[in-house]
Amino acid sequence: MANPTQTVFILGAGASKECGAPLMGEFLDAAHDLMLLGQTNGADEDFQRVFKWVAALKQTHSMSNLDIQNIESVFSALEMSKILNCFSRINASDKSNSEIDEYEKTVASLRKVIAITLENKTAIKSTNQPNILYLRYAEFSDLIEDLTKKVTPHHVVTIISFNYDLTLDYALIHRGKDKNKISYEYCLEEKNKELLPLLKLHGSLNWFHCEKCKKIITPIPRAETEIDKNGTYYITKIKAHAVCPKCRNTLSNEPIIVPPTWNKNSHYDKISHVWSHSAEKLSMAENIFVIGFSLPETDSFFKYLYGLGTVGSSHFKRFWVFNPDETVKQKFQSILGPLADKRFRFFPTRFSKATSEILINFKRN
Ligand SMILES: [Zn+2]
Repeated sequence: MANPTQTVFILGAGASKECGAPLMGEFLDAAHDLMLLGQTNGADEDFQRVFKWVAALKQTHSMSNLDIQNIESVFSALEMSKILNCFSRINASDKSNSEIDEYEKTVASLRKVIAITLENKTAIKSTNQPNILYLRYAEFSDLIEDLTKKVTPHHVVTIISFNYDLTLDYALIHRGKDKNKISYEYCLEEKNKELLPLLKLHGSLNWFHCEKCKKIITPIPRAETEIDKNGTYYITKIKAHAVCPKCRNTLSNEPIIVPPTWNKNSHYDKISHVWSHSAEKLSMAENIFVIGFSLPETDSFFKYLYGLGTVGSSHFKRFWVFNPDETVKQKFQSILGPLADKRFRFFPTRFSKATSEILINFKRN
Protein backbone atom coordinates (compact mmCIF):
# COMPACT_ATOMS: atom_id res chain seq x y z
CA MET A 1 0.00 0.00 0.00
CA ALA A 2 1.21 3.49 -0.84
CA ASN A 3 2.63 5.63 1.95
CA PRO A 4 0.12 8.10 3.35
CA THR A 5 0.36 11.74 2.27
CA GLN A 6 0.57 14.56 4.83
CA THR A 7 -2.18 17.17 4.56
CA VAL A 8 -2.64 20.35 6.60
CA PHE A 9 -5.79 22.48 6.55
CA ILE A 10 -5.44 26.06 7.73
CA LEU A 11 -8.77 27.60 8.70
CA GLY A 12 -9.43 31.29 9.31
CA ALA A 13 -12.46 33.31 10.39
CA GLY A 14 -13.97 32.96 6.91
CA ALA A 15 -14.43 29.22 7.52
CA SER A 16 -16.61 29.82 10.59
CA LYS A 17 -18.48 32.70 8.98
CA GLU A 18 -20.89 30.33 7.26
CA CYS A 19 -21.72 28.99 10.76
CA GLY A 20 -22.64 32.48 11.98
CA ALA A 21 -19.37 33.65 13.57
CA PRO A 22 -18.58 37.28 12.70
CA LEU A 23 -15.35 38.09 10.87
CA MET A 24 -12.78 39.92 12.99
CA GLY A 25 -13.69 43.24 11.33
CA GLU A 26 -17.42 42.75 12.08
CA PHE A 27 -16.95 41.55 15.61
CA LEU A 28 -17.28 44.77 17.58
CA ASP A 29 -20.45 45.75 15.75
CA ALA A 30 -21.95 42.34 16.57
CA ALA A 31 -20.94 42.71 20.24
CA HIS A 32 -22.37 46.24 20.35
CA ASP A 33 -25.70 45.03 18.96
CA LEU A 34 -25.90 42.38 21.69
CA MET A 35 -25.27 45.03 24.33
CA LEU A 36 -28.06 47.24 22.93
CA LEU A 37 -30.43 44.25 22.81
CA GLY A 38 -29.59 43.33 26.42
CA GLN A 39 -28.28 39.91 25.34
CA THR A 40 -25.05 40.04 27.31
CA ASN A 41 -25.74 36.98 29.42
CA GLY A 42 -25.41 39.03 32.61
CA ALA A 43 -22.08 40.52 31.58
CA ASP A 44 -23.24 44.14 31.04
CA GLU A 45 -20.34 45.50 33.03
CA ASP A 46 -17.83 43.62 30.87
CA PHE A 47 -19.38 44.91 27.66
CA GLN A 48 -19.32 48.47 29.02
CA ARG A 49 -15.69 48.18 30.10
CA VAL A 50 -14.67 46.93 26.63
CA PHE A 51 -16.54 49.68 24.80
CA LYS A 52 -14.98 52.27 27.10
CA TRP A 53 -11.57 51.00 25.94
CA VAL A 54 -12.68 51.05 22.29
CA ALA A 55 -13.92 54.65 22.72
CA ALA A 56 -10.58 55.61 24.27
CA LEU A 57 -8.75 54.01 21.33
CA LYS A 58 -10.95 55.94 18.90
CA GLN A 59 -9.60 59.17 20.36
CA THR A 60 -6.02 58.10 19.68
CA HIS A 61 -7.11 56.78 16.29
CA SER A 62 -7.02 60.21 14.64
CA MET A 63 -3.23 60.10 15.11
CA SER A 64 -2.60 56.54 13.96
CA ASN A 65 -3.87 54.00 11.48
CA LEU A 66 -4.86 51.39 14.03
CA ASP A 67 -7.78 49.29 12.75
CA ILE A 68 -10.15 49.77 15.68
CA GLN A 69 -13.00 47.98 13.90
CA ASN A 70 -11.01 44.79 14.19
CA ILE A 71 -11.33 42.90 17.48
CA GLU A 72 -7.82 41.45 17.16
CA SER A 73 -6.27 44.90 16.71
CA VAL A 74 -8.18 46.09 19.76
CA PHE A 75 -6.94 43.11 21.74
CA SER A 76 -3.37 43.63 20.53
CA ALA A 77 -3.48 47.38 21.29
CA LEU A 78 -4.62 46.54 24.81
CA GLU A 79 -1.63 44.28 25.36
CA MET A 80 0.74 46.80 23.87
CA SER A 81 -0.63 49.55 26.13
CA LYS A 82 0.52 47.52 29.12
CA ILE A 83 3.99 47.02 27.71
CA LEU A 84 4.27 50.69 26.84
CA ASN A 85 2.90 51.56 30.28
CA CYS A 86 0.23 53.87 28.88
CA PHE A 87 -3.02 52.00 29.59
CA SER A 88 -4.33 54.47 32.22
CA ARG A 89 -3.43 57.50 30.14
CA ILE A 90 -5.35 56.20 27.11
CA ASN A 91 -8.24 54.72 29.06
CA ALA A 92 -8.62 57.62 31.53
CA SER A 93 -8.98 54.98 34.23
CA ASP A 94 -10.25 55.51 37.74
CA LYS A 95 -7.14 56.59 39.62
CA SER A 96 -8.32 54.92 42.86
CA ASN A 97 -7.58 51.54 41.26
CA SER A 98 -4.10 50.52 40.34
CA GLU A 99 -3.28 50.58 36.64
CA ILE A 100 -2.59 46.86 36.65
CA ASP A 101 -6.01 46.06 38.21
CA GLU A 102 -7.87 48.10 35.61
CA TYR A 103 -5.81 46.57 32.85
CA GLU A 104 -6.41 43.00 34.04
CA LYS A 105 -10.12 43.68 34.37
CA THR A 106 -10.28 45.01 30.82
CA VAL A 107 -8.45 41.97 29.44
CA ALA A 108 -10.78 39.62 31.34
CA SER A 109 -13.82 41.56 30.09
CA LEU A 110 -12.60 41.41 26.50
CA ARG A 111 -12.25 37.63 26.71
CA LYS A 112 -15.77 37.34 28.11
CA VAL A 113 -17.22 39.64 25.44
CA ILE A 114 -15.56 37.58 22.70
CA ALA A 115 -16.90 34.34 24.19
CA ILE A 116 -20.45 35.62 24.70
CA THR A 117 -20.59 37.20 21.23
CA LEU A 118 -19.40 34.02 19.50
CA GLU A 119 -21.80 31.87 21.52
CA ASN A 120 -24.68 34.12 20.55
CA LYS A 121 -23.82 34.47 16.88
CA THR A 122 -23.25 30.75 16.33
CA ALA A 123 -26.43 29.79 18.20
CA ILE A 124 -28.97 28.04 16.04
CA LYS A 125 -32.63 27.95 16.90
CA SER A 126 -34.22 24.92 15.43
CA THR A 127 -37.61 23.41 16.02
CA ASN A 128 -37.00 20.16 14.21
CA GLN A 129 -34.08 18.67 16.14
CA PRO A 130 -31.64 18.45 13.25
CA ASN A 131 -28.74 16.05 13.44
CA ILE A 132 -26.48 18.57 11.83
CA LEU A 133 -26.12 22.07 13.24
CA TYR A 134 -23.28 23.37 11.11
CA LEU A 135 -23.61 22.25 7.52
CA ARG A 136 -20.26 23.57 6.24
CA TYR A 137 -18.27 21.90 8.96
CA ALA A 138 -20.38 18.74 8.59
CA GLU A 139 -19.31 18.64 4.92
CA PHE A 140 -15.75 19.34 5.99
CA SER A 141 -15.87 16.40 8.42
CA ASP A 142 -17.02 14.20 5.52
CA LEU A 143 -14.04 15.43 3.51
CA ILE A 144 -11.68 14.52 6.33
CA GLU A 145 -13.18 11.06 6.58
CA ASP A 146 -12.90 10.58 2.80
CA LEU A 147 -9.28 11.75 2.70
CA THR A 148 -8.20 9.64 5.66
CA LYS A 149 -10.06 6.45 4.68
CA LYS A 150 -11.47 6.45 1.16
CA VAL A 151 -8.79 7.74 -1.22
CA THR A 152 -5.42 6.33 -2.30
CA PRO A 153 -2.98 7.12 -0.86
CA HIS A 154 -4.60 7.88 2.49
CA HIS A 155 -4.04 11.32 3.98
CA VAL A 156 -2.77 12.01 7.46
CA VAL A 157 -4.72 15.18 8.25
CA THR A 158 -3.92 18.05 10.61
CA ILE A 159 -6.15 21.07 11.15
CA ILE A 160 -4.62 24.40 12.14
CA SER A 161 -7.28 26.93 13.10
CA PHE A 162 -7.18 30.63 13.96
CA ASN A 163 -10.74 30.51 15.29
CA TYR A 164 -11.84 30.64 18.91
CA ASP A 165 -15.37 29.37 18.28
CA LEU A 166 -16.56 25.79 18.86
CA THR A 167 -18.53 25.09 15.71
CA LEU A 168 -15.93 22.82 14.09
CA ASP A 169 -15.12 21.11 17.41
CA TYR A 170 -18.84 20.38 17.78
CA ALA A 171 -19.35 19.24 14.18
CA LEU A 172 -16.51 16.70 14.33
CA ILE A 173 -18.16 14.95 17.27
CA HIS A 174 -21.84 15.35 16.33
CA ARG A 175 -21.81 14.27 12.69
CA GLY A 176 -25.38 13.11 12.41
CA LYS A 177 -27.04 9.76 11.95
CA ASP A 178 -25.00 6.74 10.84
CA LYS A 179 -21.68 8.57 10.94
CA ASN A 180 -18.83 7.99 13.31
CA LYS A 181 -17.52 10.85 15.33
CA ILE A 182 -14.05 12.10 14.46
CA SER A 183 -12.03 12.25 17.67
CA TYR A 184 -9.52 15.04 17.83
CA GLU A 185 -6.98 16.42 20.25
CA TYR A 186 -5.79 19.96 20.86
CA CYS A 187 -2.17 18.91 21.51
CA LEU A 188 -1.73 21.19 24.52
CA GLU A 189 0.56 18.47 25.83
CA GLU A 190 2.31 15.58 24.14
CA LYS A 191 0.48 14.14 21.18
CA ASN A 192 -1.50 10.92 21.11
CA LYS A 193 -0.74 9.44 17.67
CA GLU A 194 -4.22 8.12 16.94
CA LEU A 195 -6.26 11.30 17.03
CA LEU A 196 -6.76 14.14 14.56
CA PRO A 197 -4.72 17.17 15.69
CA LEU A 198 -6.95 20.25 15.93
CA LEU A 199 -4.41 22.98 16.58
CA LYS A 200 -6.08 26.21 17.67
CA LEU A 201 -3.29 28.77 17.52
CA HIS A 202 -5.19 31.55 19.27
CA GLY A 203 -6.85 29.41 21.94
CA SER A 204 -10.43 28.26 22.23
CA LEU A 205 -13.68 29.07 24.00
CA ASN A 206 -13.53 25.72 25.81
CA TRP A 207 -9.97 26.02 27.15
CA PHE A 208 -9.85 26.94 30.83
CA HIS A 209 -7.13 26.91 33.38
CA CYS A 210 -8.11 24.83 36.42
CA GLU A 211 -6.47 26.41 39.47
CA LYS A 212 -6.69 23.14 41.39
CA CYS A 213 -5.33 20.78 38.74
CA LYS A 214 -2.84 23.42 37.47
CA LYS A 215 -3.71 22.34 33.96
CA ILE A 216 -5.66 23.50 30.96
CA ILE A 217 -8.99 21.71 30.91
CA THR A 218 -10.73 21.31 27.55
CA PRO A 219 -14.31 20.15 28.05
CA ILE A 220 -16.12 18.72 25.04
CA PRO A 221 -18.53 21.31 23.66
CA ARG A 222 -22.19 20.38 23.84
CA ALA A 223 -25.36 22.02 22.60
CA GLU A 224 -27.60 23.72 25.08
CA THR A 225 -31.21 22.81 24.53
CA GLU A 226 -34.31 24.70 25.46
CA ILE A 227 -38.00 23.87 25.46
CA ASP A 228 -40.36 26.83 25.26
CA LYS A 229 -43.77 27.06 26.89
CA ASN A 230 -45.48 25.44 23.88
CA GLY A 231 -43.24 22.43 24.28
CA THR A 232 -41.18 23.32 21.18
CA TYR A 233 -37.66 22.02 21.31
CA TYR A 234 -34.78 24.33 20.42
CA ILE A 235 -31.11 23.78 20.02
CA THR A 236 -29.45 27.02 20.96
CA LYS A 237 -25.90 27.70 22.04
CA ILE A 238 -22.79 25.59 21.94
CA LYS A 239 -21.21 25.76 25.36
CA ALA A 240 -18.42 24.21 27.31
CA HIS A 241 -19.11 22.67 30.71
CA ALA A 242 -18.45 25.07 33.57
CA VAL A 243 -16.97 22.44 35.88
CA CYS A 244 -13.57 20.75 35.71
CA PRO A 245 -14.38 17.12 34.84
CA LYS A 246 -11.35 15.94 36.82
CA CYS A 247 -11.65 17.70 40.20
CA ARG A 248 -15.22 19.17 39.91
CA ASN A 249 -13.79 22.63 40.59
CA THR A 250 -15.93 25.39 39.07
CA LEU A 251 -13.95 26.91 36.20
CA SER A 252 -13.71 30.63 35.58
CA ASN A 253 -15.80 31.86 32.68
CA GLU A 254 -12.75 33.45 31.10
CA PRO A 255 -11.51 31.16 28.32
CA ILE A 256 -7.90 30.98 27.17
CA ILE A 257 -7.80 33.04 24.01
CA VAL A 258 -4.73 34.97 22.96
CA PRO A 259 -4.34 37.88 20.57
CA PRO A 260 -2.06 37.42 17.58
CA THR A 261 0.60 39.86 18.76
CA TRP A 262 4.29 39.16 18.78
CA ASN A 263 4.87 39.82 22.47
CA LYS A 264 4.88 37.20 25.20
CA ASN A 265 2.65 36.78 28.21
CA SER A 266 1.80 33.86 30.46
CA HIS A 267 -0.76 32.36 28.12
CA TYR A 268 1.82 31.82 25.41
CA ASP A 269 3.67 29.35 27.62
CA LYS A 270 0.46 27.41 28.09
CA ILE A 271 -0.12 26.95 24.39
CA SER A 272 3.45 26.77 23.12
CA HIS A 273 3.04 23.04 22.36
CA VAL A 274 0.23 23.88 19.95
CA TRP A 275 2.51 26.21 18.01
CA SER A 276 5.54 23.93 17.90
CA HIS A 277 3.30 21.10 16.79
CA SER A 278 1.89 23.28 14.01
CA ALA A 279 5.41 24.12 12.79
CA GLU A 280 6.31 20.43 12.77
CA LYS A 281 3.18 19.49 10.81
CA LEU A 282 3.80 22.26 8.27
CA SER A 283 7.36 21.02 7.78
CA MET A 284 6.02 17.57 6.83
CA ALA A 285 3.10 18.73 4.70
CA GLU A 286 2.71 17.74 1.07
CA ASN A 287 -0.66 19.46 0.76
CA ILE A 288 -1.61 22.73 2.46
CA PHE A 289 -5.18 23.94 2.00
CA VAL A 290 -5.96 27.40 3.38
CA ILE A 291 -9.66 28.20 3.79
CA GLY A 292 -11.07 31.57 4.87
CA PHE A 293 -7.80 32.88 6.28
CA SER A 294 -6.88 36.30 4.91
CA LEU A 295 -3.39 36.77 6.39
CA PRO A 296 -4.42 39.79 8.46
CA GLU A 297 -1.84 42.48 9.20
CA THR A 298 -2.16 41.73 12.92
CA ASP A 299 -1.07 38.16 12.32
CA SER A 300 2.53 38.53 11.21
CA PHE A 301 3.09 35.47 13.40
CA PHE A 302 1.75 33.26 10.63
CA LYS A 303 4.48 34.40 8.24
CA TYR A 304 7.10 33.18 10.68
CA LEU A 305 5.24 29.97 11.45
CA TYR A 306 5.02 29.21 7.76
CA GLY A 307 8.51 30.42 6.90
CA LEU A 308 10.29 28.62 9.73
CA GLY A 309 7.96 25.62 9.70
CA THR A 310 8.59 24.87 6.06
CA VAL A 311 12.37 25.48 6.05
CA GLY A 312 14.07 22.57 4.32
CA SER A 313 10.82 21.04 3.17
CA SER A 314 10.98 20.03 -0.49
CA HIS A 315 8.10 17.60 -0.70
CA PHE A 316 5.40 20.20 -1.21
CA LYS A 317 2.81 19.34 -3.83
CA ARG A 318 0.00 21.80 -3.28
CA PHE A 319 -0.49 25.13 -1.53
CA TRP A 320 -4.06 26.04 -2.36
CA VAL A 321 -5.91 29.04 -0.99
CA PHE A 322 -9.71 29.35 -0.97
CA ASN A 323 -11.04 32.83 -0.30
CA PRO A 324 -13.80 34.91 -1.93
CA ASP A 325 -11.60 38.01 -1.46
CA GLU A 326 -9.23 38.13 -4.46
CA THR A 327 -6.82 40.56 -2.77
CA VAL A 328 -5.78 37.64 -0.54
CA LYS A 329 -4.10 35.93 -3.50
CA GLN A 330 -1.32 38.50 -3.72
CA LYS A 331 -0.74 38.46 0.07
CA PHE A 332 -0.04 34.72 0.01
CA GLN A 333 2.10 34.89 -3.09
CA SER A 334 4.32 37.41 -1.36
CA ILE A 335 5.11 35.05 1.55
CA LEU A 336 5.64 31.89 -0.50
CA GLY A 337 9.12 31.03 -1.69
CA PRO A 338 9.77 30.21 -5.35
CA LEU A 339 9.34 26.48 -4.72
CA ALA A 340 5.88 26.75 -3.19
CA ASP A 341 4.93 29.32 -5.78
CA LYS A 342 4.87 26.67 -8.52
CA ARG A 343 2.42 24.67 -6.45
CA PHE A 344 0.28 27.64 -5.55
CA ARG A 345 -3.33 27.88 -6.68
CA PHE A 346 -5.92 30.42 -5.73
CA PHE A 347 -9.66 29.76 -5.75
CA PRO A 348 -11.91 32.83 -5.30
CA THR A 349 -14.62 30.70 -3.68
CA ARG A 350 -16.29 30.18 -0.36
CA PHE A 351 -15.89 27.27 2.04
CA SER A 352 -18.94 25.52 0.58
CA LYS A 353 -17.13 25.11 -2.78
CA ALA A 354 -13.73 24.25 -1.32
CA THR A 355 -14.57 20.80 0.03
CA SER A 356 -15.79 19.38 -3.30
CA GLU A 357 -12.95 21.08 -5.22
CA ILE A 358 -10.37 19.38 -2.99
CA LEU A 359 -11.90 15.91 -3.07
CA ILE A 360 -12.08 15.60 -6.86
CA ASN A 361 -8.29 15.79 -7.01
CA PHE A 362 -7.75 12.54 -5.16
CA LYS A 363 -8.43 9.05 -6.41
CA ARG A 364 -11.11 7.03 -4.64
CA ASN A 365 -10.26 3.48 -3.54
ZN1 LIG B 1 -9.45 20.51 38.00
